[in-house]
Amino acid sequence: MKTKLLCLLAAMVLFTFGSNAQSSEKKKPNIIFIFSDDHAYQAISAYGSKLTTTPGIDRLAKEGALFTNALVTNSICGPSRATLLTGKYSHMNGYKRNDRTLFDTTQPLLSRTLQQTGYQTAWVGKMHLNSLPAGFDYWNVLPGQGHYYNPDFISQPNDTTRYKGYVSDLITQFSIDFLEKRDTEKPFFMIVGHKATHREWLPDLQDLGTFDDTKFPLPDNFYDNYAGRNSAAHQDMTIDKTMLLKEDLKVDIDYQKSWIYNRFDDKQKKVFKAYYDKVSADYHSKDRKGKELIEWKYQRYMNDYLSTAKSLDRNIGQLLDYLDKNGLAENTIVIYASDQGFYLGEHGWFDKRFIYEESLKTPFLIRYPGVVKPGTTIDQLMLNIDWAPSIIDLAGGKVPAQMQGKSFLPLLQSGTSAKTPWRKEAYYHYYEYPQPHRVHPHFGIRTDRYKLAYFYKGGDSWELYDLQEDPTEVSNIYGKQGTEKLTADLKQKLKKLMQEYKDKEALEILAKAKP
Ligand code: CA
Repeated sequence: MKTKLLCLLAAMVLFTFGSNAQSSEKKKPNIIFIFSDDHAYQAISAYGSKLTTTPGIDRLAKEGALFTNALVTNSICGPSRATLLTGKYSHMNGYKRNDRTLFDTTQPLLSRTLQQTGYQTAWVGKMHLNSLPAGFDYWNVLPGQGHYYNPDFISQPNDTTRYKGYVSDLITQFSIDFLEKRDTEKPFFMIVGHKATHREWLPDLQDLGTFDDTKFPLPDNFYDNYAGRNSAAHQDMTIDKTMLLKEDLKVDIDYQKSWIYNRFDDKQKKVFKAYYDKVSADYHSKDRKGKELIEWKYQRYMNDYLSTAKSLDRNIGQLLDYLDKNGLAENTIVIYASDQGFYLGEHGWFDKRFIYEESLKTPFLIRYPGVVKPGTTIDQLMLNIDWAPSIIDLAGGKVPAQMQGKSFLPLLQSGTSAKTPWRKEAYYHYYEYPQPHRVHPHFGIRTDRYKLAYFYKGGDSWELYDLQEDPTEVSNIYGKQGTEKLTADLKQKLKKLMQEYKDKEALEILAKAKP
Protein backbone atom coordinates (compact mmCIF):
# COMPACT_ATOMS: atom_id res chain seq x y z
CA MET A 1 0.00 0.00 0.00
CA LYS A 2 2.75 2.37 1.09
CA THR A 3 4.76 1.58 -2.06
CA LYS A 4 1.73 2.16 -4.23
CA LEU A 5 1.13 5.56 -2.63
CA LEU A 6 4.78 6.55 -3.12
CA CYS A 7 4.61 5.51 -6.73
CA LEU A 8 1.46 7.54 -7.22
CA LEU A 9 3.06 10.57 -5.55
CA ALA A 10 6.18 10.20 -7.66
CA ALA A 11 4.06 9.97 -10.80
CA MET A 12 2.16 13.11 -9.78
CA VAL A 13 5.37 15.00 -9.12
CA LEU A 14 6.79 13.89 -12.48
CA PHE A 15 3.61 14.81 -14.27
CA THR A 16 3.44 18.26 -12.66
CA PHE A 17 7.09 19.10 -13.27
CA GLY A 18 7.07 17.53 -16.70
CA SER A 19 4.11 19.55 -17.90
CA ASN A 20 5.43 22.76 -16.33
CA ALA A 21 8.75 22.36 -18.05
CA GLN A 22 6.99 21.69 -21.30
CA SER A 23 4.62 24.65 -21.10
CA SER A 24 7.37 27.11 -20.14
CA GLU A 25 9.44 25.71 -22.99
CA LYS A 26 6.52 26.22 -25.34
CA LYS A 27 6.27 29.87 -24.35
CA LYS A 28 9.72 30.59 -25.75
CA PRO A 29 9.21 32.36 -29.05
CA ASN A 30 10.38 30.91 -32.34
CA ILE A 31 12.62 33.29 -34.27
CA ILE A 32 12.94 33.69 -38.03
CA PHE A 33 15.62 36.05 -39.31
CA ILE A 34 15.06 36.82 -42.99
CA PHE A 35 18.37 38.16 -44.24
CA SER A 36 18.61 39.51 -47.77
CA ASP A 37 21.63 40.79 -49.66
CA ASP A 38 22.09 44.38 -50.86
CA HIS A 39 18.41 45.27 -50.46
CA ALA A 40 18.20 49.04 -50.07
CA TYR A 41 15.68 50.65 -47.72
CA GLN A 42 14.97 53.08 -50.59
CA ALA A 43 13.36 50.09 -52.33
CA ILE A 44 10.92 49.29 -49.50
CA SER A 45 7.56 51.05 -49.38
CA ALA A 46 7.42 50.89 -45.57
CA TYR A 47 10.53 53.12 -45.70
CA GLY A 48 8.77 55.52 -48.06
CA SER A 49 10.18 54.21 -51.34
CA LYS A 50 9.43 56.35 -54.40
CA LEU A 51 10.35 53.44 -56.65
CA THR A 52 8.27 50.37 -55.80
CA THR A 53 5.91 48.67 -53.37
CA THR A 54 6.78 45.78 -51.07
CA PRO A 55 3.56 44.40 -49.56
CA GLY A 56 5.33 41.38 -47.98
CA ILE A 57 7.92 43.36 -46.03
CA ASP A 58 5.43 46.12 -45.29
CA ARG A 59 3.34 43.63 -43.32
CA LEU A 60 6.15 43.48 -40.76
CA ALA A 61 6.06 47.27 -40.39
CA LYS A 62 2.27 47.32 -40.02
CA GLU A 63 2.24 44.43 -37.57
CA GLY A 64 5.52 45.21 -35.80
CA ALA A 65 8.35 47.72 -35.57
CA LEU A 66 10.49 49.50 -38.16
CA PHE A 67 13.95 50.81 -37.23
CA THR A 68 14.74 54.03 -39.09
CA ASN A 69 18.39 54.08 -38.01
CA ALA A 70 19.58 50.47 -38.19
CA LEU A 71 23.25 50.85 -39.10
CA VAL A 72 25.89 48.36 -40.12
CA THR A 73 29.43 48.59 -38.76
CA ASN A 74 31.21 47.56 -41.99
CA SER A 75 29.04 47.84 -45.09
CA ILE A 76 29.82 44.67 -47.00
CA CYS A 77 28.34 41.17 -47.35
CA GLY A 78 30.54 38.60 -45.56
CA PRO A 79 31.56 40.87 -42.67
CA SER A 80 27.90 41.71 -41.98
CA ARG A 81 27.09 38.00 -41.73
CA ALA A 82 30.06 37.45 -39.41
CA THR A 83 28.75 40.28 -37.22
CA LEU A 84 25.26 38.76 -37.19
CA LEU A 85 26.75 35.53 -35.82
CA THR A 86 29.22 37.07 -33.36
CA GLY A 87 27.74 40.40 -32.20
CA LYS A 88 31.22 41.82 -32.73
CA TYR A 89 32.97 44.37 -34.92
CA SER A 90 35.00 43.00 -37.85
CA HIS A 91 38.33 43.67 -36.10
CA MET A 92 37.18 41.48 -33.21
CA ASN A 93 35.60 38.61 -35.16
CA GLY A 94 38.42 38.55 -37.73
CA TYR A 95 36.20 38.89 -40.80
CA LYS A 96 37.02 42.31 -42.24
CA ARG A 97 36.79 41.69 -45.98
CA ASN A 98 34.87 39.67 -48.56
CA ASP A 99 37.94 37.69 -49.54
CA ARG A 100 38.92 34.15 -48.74
CA THR A 101 39.02 34.80 -45.02
CA LEU A 102 37.93 31.71 -43.12
CA PHE A 103 35.29 32.56 -40.57
CA ASP A 104 36.54 31.58 -37.10
CA THR A 105 33.77 29.34 -35.82
CA THR A 106 35.44 28.73 -32.44
CA GLN A 107 34.34 32.12 -31.05
CA PRO A 108 31.04 32.50 -29.18
CA LEU A 109 28.25 32.38 -31.75
CA LEU A 110 24.62 33.41 -31.80
CA SER A 111 23.70 29.97 -33.16
CA ARG A 112 25.55 27.99 -30.50
CA THR A 113 24.23 30.18 -27.69
CA LEU A 114 20.69 29.56 -28.91
CA GLN A 115 21.34 25.82 -29.02
CA GLN A 116 22.46 26.04 -25.39
CA THR A 117 19.25 27.95 -24.63
CA GLY A 118 17.21 24.99 -25.93
CA TYR A 119 16.67 26.12 -29.49
CA GLN A 120 16.77 24.11 -32.64
CA THR A 121 18.79 26.14 -35.14
CA ALA A 122 18.69 26.24 -38.94
CA TRP A 123 20.28 28.19 -41.78
CA VAL A 124 18.68 28.06 -45.20
CA GLY A 125 19.89 29.91 -48.32
CA LYS A 126 22.79 32.29 -48.72
CA MET A 127 25.50 32.19 -46.06
CA HIS A 128 28.69 33.34 -47.82
CA LEU A 129 31.20 32.84 -45.00
CA ASN A 130 33.72 30.37 -46.49
CA SER A 131 32.80 27.79 -43.85
CA LEU A 132 29.97 25.37 -43.18
CA PRO A 133 27.32 26.57 -40.72
CA ALA A 134 28.54 26.23 -37.12
CA GLY A 135 26.10 25.86 -34.27
CA PHE A 136 23.29 24.96 -36.64
CA ASP A 137 21.32 21.73 -36.30
CA TYR A 138 20.05 21.93 -39.85
CA TRP A 139 21.22 23.66 -42.98
CA ASN A 140 20.67 23.80 -46.69
CA VAL A 141 22.82 26.67 -47.97
CA LEU A 142 24.07 28.15 -51.21
CA PRO A 143 27.79 27.74 -51.86
CA GLY A 144 29.42 31.20 -51.92
CA GLN A 145 27.33 33.75 -53.79
CA GLY A 146 25.06 31.05 -55.22
CA HIS A 147 23.14 31.25 -58.49
CA TYR A 148 19.79 32.86 -59.28
CA TYR A 149 18.76 30.03 -61.61
CA ASN A 150 18.99 26.28 -60.99
CA PRO A 151 21.35 26.77 -58.04
CA ASP A 152 23.35 24.27 -56.02
CA PHE A 153 22.63 23.90 -52.32
CA ILE A 154 24.87 22.29 -49.72
CA SER A 155 23.00 20.19 -47.21
CA GLN A 156 24.27 18.18 -44.27
CA PRO A 157 26.87 16.96 -43.85
CA ASN A 158 28.40 18.43 -47.02
CA ASP A 159 26.43 17.22 -50.03
CA THR A 160 25.91 19.43 -53.03
CA THR A 161 22.70 19.12 -55.04
CA ARG A 162 21.55 21.15 -58.01
CA TYR A 163 17.88 22.14 -58.02
CA LYS A 164 15.67 23.33 -60.83
CA GLY A 165 14.03 26.68 -60.30
CA TYR A 166 14.51 30.23 -59.11
CA VAL A 167 16.62 30.82 -56.04
CA SER A 168 14.15 32.91 -53.97
CA ASP A 169 11.40 30.29 -54.46
CA LEU A 170 13.74 27.42 -53.57
CA ILE A 171 14.90 29.20 -50.39
CA THR A 172 11.29 29.60 -49.26
CA GLN A 173 10.56 25.98 -50.13
CA PHE A 174 13.56 24.73 -48.13
CA SER A 175 12.68 27.01 -45.21
CA ILE A 176 9.21 25.48 -45.12
CA ASP A 177 10.78 22.00 -45.44
CA PHE A 178 12.70 22.68 -42.25
CA LEU A 179 9.58 23.95 -40.46
CA GLU A 180 7.70 20.79 -41.53
CA LYS A 181 10.35 18.38 -40.32
CA ARG A 182 11.53 20.24 -37.21
CA ASP A 183 11.28 18.89 -33.68
CA THR A 184 8.06 20.55 -32.52
CA GLU A 185 9.00 20.02 -28.87
CA LYS A 186 11.65 22.73 -29.17
CA PRO A 187 11.49 26.39 -30.17
CA PHE A 188 13.38 27.14 -33.37
CA PHE A 189 15.69 29.79 -34.74
CA MET A 190 16.00 29.93 -38.52
CA ILE A 191 18.03 32.25 -40.72
CA VAL A 192 16.49 32.55 -44.18
CA GLY A 193 19.39 33.91 -46.23
CA HIS A 194 18.30 35.36 -49.56
CA LYS A 195 20.56 35.85 -52.54
CA ALA A 196 18.38 38.68 -53.85
CA THR A 197 19.07 41.49 -54.51
CA HIS A 198 22.77 40.93 -55.15
CA ARG A 199 24.40 41.85 -58.45
CA GLU A 200 23.84 40.85 -61.36
CA TRP A 201 20.10 41.18 -60.63
CA LEU A 202 18.51 38.36 -62.60
CA PRO A 203 14.74 38.56 -62.04
CA ASP A 204 12.40 35.60 -61.92
CA LEU A 205 10.91 34.91 -65.39
CA GLN A 206 7.44 36.02 -64.26
CA ASP A 207 8.78 39.39 -63.09
CA LEU A 208 10.60 40.38 -66.27
CA GLY A 209 9.11 43.59 -67.61
CA THR A 210 7.22 44.52 -64.42
CA PHE A 211 8.58 48.06 -64.56
CA ASP A 212 8.72 48.55 -68.33
CA ASP A 213 6.22 51.40 -68.18
CA THR A 214 7.78 53.03 -65.13
CA LYS A 215 10.04 56.05 -65.31
CA PHE A 216 12.06 56.09 -62.12
CA PRO A 217 12.84 59.47 -60.55
CA LEU A 218 16.54 60.34 -60.29
CA PRO A 219 17.90 60.74 -56.76
CA ASP A 220 18.63 64.40 -55.89
CA ASN A 221 22.39 63.81 -55.85
CA PHE A 222 22.51 61.55 -58.93
CA TYR A 223 24.87 64.00 -60.67
CA ASP A 224 27.15 64.44 -57.69
CA ASN A 225 30.47 66.02 -58.76
CA TYR A 226 32.21 64.91 -55.52
CA ALA A 227 33.57 68.40 -54.90
CA GLY A 228 35.48 68.55 -51.62
CA ARG A 229 35.42 64.75 -51.22
CA ASN A 230 38.58 63.10 -52.43
CA SER A 231 37.56 59.50 -51.64
CA ALA A 232 34.04 59.84 -53.04
CA ALA A 233 35.65 61.10 -56.25
CA HIS A 234 38.04 58.15 -56.56
CA GLN A 235 35.82 55.08 -56.15
CA ASP A 236 35.00 52.72 -58.99
CA MET A 237 31.27 52.11 -58.56
CA THR A 238 29.42 54.50 -60.82
CA ILE A 239 26.46 53.62 -63.02
CA ASP A 240 28.19 55.73 -65.67
CA LYS A 241 31.61 54.04 -65.81
CA THR A 242 31.67 50.90 -63.66
CA MET A 243 28.36 49.25 -64.42
CA LEU A 244 28.83 46.69 -67.21
CA LEU A 245 26.69 47.04 -70.28
CA LYS A 246 26.68 43.29 -70.93
CA GLU A 247 26.69 41.49 -67.59
CA ASP A 248 24.90 44.12 -65.49
CA LEU A 249 22.53 45.63 -68.04
CA LYS A 250 22.32 42.53 -70.26
CA VAL A 251 22.76 44.40 -73.54
CA ASP A 252 24.07 42.30 -76.47
CA ILE A 253 24.81 39.39 -74.21
CA ASP A 254 25.83 36.08 -75.73
CA TYR A 255 23.26 33.57 -74.55
CA GLN A 256 25.40 30.60 -75.35
CA LYS A 257 28.70 31.80 -73.88
CA SER A 258 28.14 34.37 -71.13
CA TRP A 259 28.70 33.08 -67.59
CA ILE A 260 25.61 35.02 -66.50
CA TYR A 261 23.42 32.43 -68.18
CA ASN A 262 25.49 29.31 -67.59
CA ARG A 263 22.87 27.90 -65.20
CA PHE A 264 19.84 28.57 -67.36
CA ASP A 265 17.99 25.80 -69.14
CA ASP A 266 16.91 26.34 -72.76
CA LYS A 267 13.42 27.54 -71.87
CA GLN A 268 14.73 30.07 -69.35
CA LYS A 269 17.32 31.30 -71.87
CA LYS A 270 14.61 31.74 -74.47
CA VAL A 271 12.48 33.91 -72.18
CA PHE A 272 15.48 36.01 -71.14
CA LYS A 273 16.68 36.35 -74.71
CA ALA A 274 13.25 37.52 -75.89
CA TYR A 275 13.13 40.15 -73.16
CA TYR A 276 16.71 41.43 -73.33
CA ASP A 277 16.78 41.42 -77.15
CA LYS A 278 14.14 44.15 -76.87
CA VAL A 279 16.28 45.98 -74.31
CA SER A 280 19.32 45.70 -76.61
CA ALA A 281 17.26 46.94 -79.57
CA ASP A 282 16.16 49.93 -77.52
CA TYR A 283 19.78 50.61 -76.59
CA HIS A 284 20.79 50.57 -80.27
CA SER A 285 17.74 52.50 -81.45
CA LYS A 286 19.38 55.80 -80.60
CA ASP A 287 22.94 57.04 -80.26
CA ARG A 288 22.66 58.21 -76.66
CA LYS A 289 25.50 60.16 -75.12
CA GLY A 290 26.32 61.92 -71.86
CA LYS A 291 23.42 62.33 -69.45
CA GLU A 292 20.96 60.64 -71.75
CA LEU A 293 23.06 57.46 -71.78
CA ILE A 294 23.70 57.50 -68.02
CA GLU A 295 19.99 57.92 -67.36
CA TRP A 296 19.15 55.10 -69.75
CA LYS A 297 21.51 52.86 -67.74
CA TYR A 298 19.96 54.03 -64.47
CA GLN A 299 16.47 53.17 -65.71
CA ARG A 300 17.62 49.69 -66.75
CA TYR A 301 19.48 49.17 -63.45
CA MET A 302 16.34 50.06 -61.48
CA ASN A 303 14.27 47.85 -63.74
CA ASP A 304 16.41 44.76 -63.11
CA TYR A 305 17.08 45.47 -59.43
CA LEU A 306 13.44 46.09 -58.52
CA SER A 307 12.18 43.17 -60.61
CA THR A 308 14.60 40.92 -58.70
CA ALA A 309 13.37 42.42 -55.42
CA LYS A 310 9.79 41.63 -56.43
CA SER A 311 10.34 37.89 -56.05
CA LEU A 312 12.14 38.46 -52.74
CA ASP A 313 9.17 40.37 -51.36
CA ARG A 314 6.64 37.87 -52.73
CA ASN A 315 8.54 35.02 -51.07
CA ILE A 316 8.63 36.86 -47.75
CA GLY A 317 4.85 37.25 -48.03
CA GLN A 318 4.54 33.52 -48.74
CA LEU A 319 6.56 32.60 -45.67
CA LEU A 320 4.39 34.88 -43.51
CA ASP A 321 1.28 33.24 -45.03
CA TYR A 322 2.68 29.83 -44.12
CA LEU A 323 3.13 30.94 -40.50
CA ASP A 324 -0.48 32.20 -40.47
CA LYS A 325 -1.91 29.00 -41.92
CA ASN A 326 0.05 26.75 -39.59
CA GLY A 327 -0.67 28.51 -36.33
CA LEU A 328 2.91 29.73 -35.99
CA ALA A 329 2.45 33.48 -36.46
CA GLU A 330 1.48 34.24 -32.85
CA ASN A 331 4.56 32.76 -31.23
CA THR A 332 7.15 33.44 -33.92
CA ILE A 333 9.28 36.58 -34.00
CA VAL A 334 9.96 37.55 -37.60
CA ILE A 335 12.86 39.86 -38.41
CA TYR A 336 13.69 41.26 -41.82
CA ALA A 337 17.08 42.82 -42.53
CA SER A 338 19.51 43.24 -45.38
CA ASP A 339 23.25 42.67 -44.86
CA GLN A 340 23.73 46.36 -45.64
CA GLY A 341 22.16 49.16 -47.61
CA PHE A 342 22.84 49.87 -51.28
CA TYR A 343 23.07 52.82 -53.65
CA LEU A 344 20.23 53.12 -56.11
CA GLY A 345 21.81 55.94 -58.08
CA GLU A 346 22.58 58.21 -55.11
CA HIS A 347 25.93 59.93 -55.81
CA GLY A 348 25.68 58.27 -59.24
CA TRP A 349 26.45 54.88 -57.70
CA PHE A 350 25.46 51.27 -57.24
CA ASP A 351 27.14 49.04 -54.59
CA LYS A 352 27.79 49.88 -50.90
CA ARG A 353 30.92 50.24 -48.62
CA PHE A 354 30.84 53.97 -47.83
CA ILE A 355 29.76 55.40 -44.48
CA TYR A 356 27.22 57.56 -46.35
CA GLU A 357 23.59 56.98 -45.41
CA GLU A 358 22.40 54.65 -48.17
CA SER A 359 24.99 51.96 -47.41
CA LEU A 360 25.45 52.68 -43.69
CA LYS A 361 21.76 52.17 -43.01
CA THR A 362 20.03 48.87 -43.63
CA PRO A 363 16.36 47.95 -43.47
CA PHE A 364 15.41 46.32 -40.17
CA LEU A 365 11.89 45.32 -39.16
CA ILE A 366 10.66 43.04 -36.41
CA ARG A 367 7.26 41.55 -35.67
CA TYR A 368 6.63 40.06 -32.24
CA PRO A 369 2.91 39.69 -31.50
CA GLY A 370 1.98 40.68 -27.98
CA VAL A 371 5.31 42.41 -27.30
CA VAL A 372 5.84 44.89 -30.15
CA LYS A 373 2.95 47.26 -30.72
CA PRO A 374 1.90 47.19 -34.39
CA GLY A 375 3.07 50.21 -36.35
CA THR A 376 5.97 51.07 -34.00
CA THR A 377 8.82 53.22 -35.34
CA ILE A 378 12.19 53.22 -33.56
CA ASP A 379 14.65 56.01 -34.36
CA GLN A 380 17.56 55.13 -32.05
CA LEU A 381 20.96 54.20 -33.50
CA MET A 382 20.78 50.43 -33.60
CA LEU A 383 23.83 48.56 -34.92
CA ASN A 384 24.28 45.13 -36.44
CA ILE A 385 26.46 44.19 -33.43
CA ASP A 386 23.15 44.45 -31.50
CA TRP A 387 21.43 41.77 -33.56
CA ALA A 388 22.96 38.71 -31.84
CA PRO A 389 22.58 40.01 -28.25
CA SER A 390 18.99 41.06 -28.99
CA ILE A 391 18.03 37.69 -30.45
CA ILE A 392 19.62 35.86 -27.52
CA ASP A 393 17.76 38.18 -25.13
CA LEU A 394 14.48 37.55 -26.95
CA ALA A 395 15.14 33.81 -26.59
CA GLY A 396 15.78 34.17 -22.87
CA GLY A 397 19.44 33.18 -23.16
CA LYS A 398 22.63 34.55 -21.65
CA VAL A 399 24.56 36.92 -23.92
CA PRO A 400 28.26 35.88 -24.15
CA ALA A 401 30.54 38.51 -22.57
CA GLN A 402 32.58 38.86 -25.78
CA MET A 403 29.63 40.22 -27.76
CA GLN A 404 29.96 43.97 -28.19
CA GLY A 405 26.40 44.96 -29.01
CA LYS A 406 23.47 45.29 -26.66
CA SER A 407 19.94 44.03 -26.69
CA PHE A 408 17.36 46.36 -28.22
CA LEU A 409 14.55 44.54 -26.41
CA PRO A 410 14.05 47.52 -24.01
CA LEU A 411 13.47 49.76 -27.05
CA LEU A 412 10.76 47.40 -28.26
CA GLN A 413 9.06 47.07 -24.90
CA SER A 414 8.92 50.71 -23.96
CA GLY A 415 6.76 51.45 -26.96
CA THR A 416 7.75 55.07 -27.48
CA SER A 417 11.32 54.01 -26.57
CA ALA A 418 12.26 57.65 -25.90
CA LYS A 419 12.96 56.99 -22.22
CA THR A 420 15.23 53.99 -22.74
CA PRO A 421 18.91 54.87 -22.18
CA TRP A 422 20.65 54.18 -25.46
CA ARG A 423 23.84 54.99 -27.38
CA LYS A 424 24.08 58.48 -28.86
CA GLU A 425 26.95 57.69 -31.23
CA ALA A 426 27.66 54.87 -33.66
CA TYR A 427 31.11 53.68 -34.75
CA TYR A 428 31.92 52.45 -38.27
CA HIS A 429 35.02 50.90 -39.89
CA TYR A 430 35.37 49.76 -43.51
CA TYR A 431 38.44 47.87 -44.84
CA GLU A 432 38.25 46.22 -48.26
CA TYR A 433 40.64 47.89 -50.73
CA PRO A 434 41.56 48.33 -53.53
CA GLN A 435 39.42 45.72 -55.26
CA PRO A 436 36.68 45.46 -56.21
CA HIS A 437 35.47 49.07 -56.08
CA ARG A 438 38.45 51.14 -54.92
CA VAL A 439 36.66 52.61 -51.91
CA HIS A 440 39.31 53.95 -49.54
CA PRO A 441 39.28 52.28 -46.11
CA HIS A 442 37.77 54.59 -43.53
CA PHE A 443 36.32 54.85 -40.06
CA GLY A 444 33.84 57.29 -38.62
CA ILE A 445 31.20 58.30 -36.16
CA ARG A 446 27.51 59.00 -36.73
CA THR A 447 25.28 60.82 -34.25
CA ASP A 448 21.61 61.64 -34.75
CA ARG A 449 22.67 64.76 -36.67
CA TYR A 450 26.34 64.64 -37.62
CA LYS A 451 28.80 62.34 -39.29
CA LEU A 452 32.59 62.55 -39.14
CA ALA A 453 34.76 60.17 -41.16
CA TYR A 454 38.45 59.73 -41.84
CA PHE A 455 39.56 58.07 -45.07
CA TYR A 456 43.01 56.60 -44.65
CA LYS A 457 44.79 54.16 -47.03
CA GLY A 458 44.59 55.98 -50.37
CA GLY A 459 42.52 58.80 -48.97
CA ASP A 460 44.05 60.72 -46.07
CA SER A 461 41.16 63.12 -45.65
CA TRP A 462 38.45 64.01 -43.16
CA GLU A 463 34.80 64.55 -43.97
CA LEU A 464 32.11 66.12 -41.84
CA TYR A 465 28.38 66.28 -42.60
CA ASP A 466 25.42 67.96 -41.01
CA LEU A 467 22.66 65.51 -41.94
CA GLN A 468 19.95 67.96 -40.98
CA GLU A 469 21.19 70.65 -43.37
CA ASP A 470 22.63 68.30 -45.98
CA PRO A 471 20.76 64.97 -45.99
CA THR A 472 22.23 63.88 -49.34
CA GLU A 473 25.80 64.37 -48.03
CA VAL A 474 27.27 66.45 -50.82
CA SER A 475 28.69 69.24 -48.68
CA ASN A 476 31.79 68.32 -46.67
CA ILE A 477 32.02 70.97 -43.94
CA TYR A 478 35.21 69.64 -42.37
CA GLY A 479 37.56 72.54 -41.65
CA LYS A 480 34.86 75.14 -42.33
CA GLN A 481 34.69 78.11 -39.98
CA GLY A 482 32.40 77.50 -37.05
CA THR A 483 32.80 73.70 -37.01
CA GLU A 484 35.92 73.63 -34.79
CA LYS A 485 34.16 72.83 -31.52
CA LEU A 486 31.85 70.28 -33.15
CA THR A 487 34.80 68.58 -34.88
CA ALA A 488 36.88 68.40 -31.70
CA ASP A 489 33.92 66.95 -29.82
CA LEU A 490 33.25 64.32 -32.50
CA LYS A 491 36.94 63.36 -32.67
CA GLN A 492 36.98 62.91 -28.91
CA LYS A 493 33.90 60.70 -29.09
CA LEU A 494 35.31 58.76 -32.02
CA LYS A 495 38.43 57.96 -30.02
CA LYS A 496 36.33 56.86 -27.06
CA LEU A 497 34.34 54.51 -29.27
CA MET A 498 37.54 52.99 -30.69
CA GLN A 499 38.71 52.39 -27.13
CA GLU A 500 35.37 50.96 -26.04
CA TYR A 501 35.28 48.57 -29.00
CA LYS A 502 39.01 47.81 -28.76
CA ASP A 503 39.88 48.87 -32.32
CA LYS A 504 43.65 49.18 -31.75
CA GLU A 505 44.51 49.47 -35.43
CA ALA A 506 42.13 52.42 -35.81
CA LEU A 507 43.52 54.10 -32.68
CA GLU A 508 47.01 53.95 -34.19
CA ILE A 509 45.80 55.42 -37.47
CA LEU A 510 43.86 58.11 -35.65
CA ALA A 511 46.95 59.08 -33.62
CA LYS A 512 48.85 59.69 -36.86
CA ALA A 513 45.97 61.20 -38.83
CA LYS A 514 46.42 64.65 -40.28
CA PRO A 515 44.51 67.32 -38.38
CA1 CA B 1 25.55 42.44 -49.39
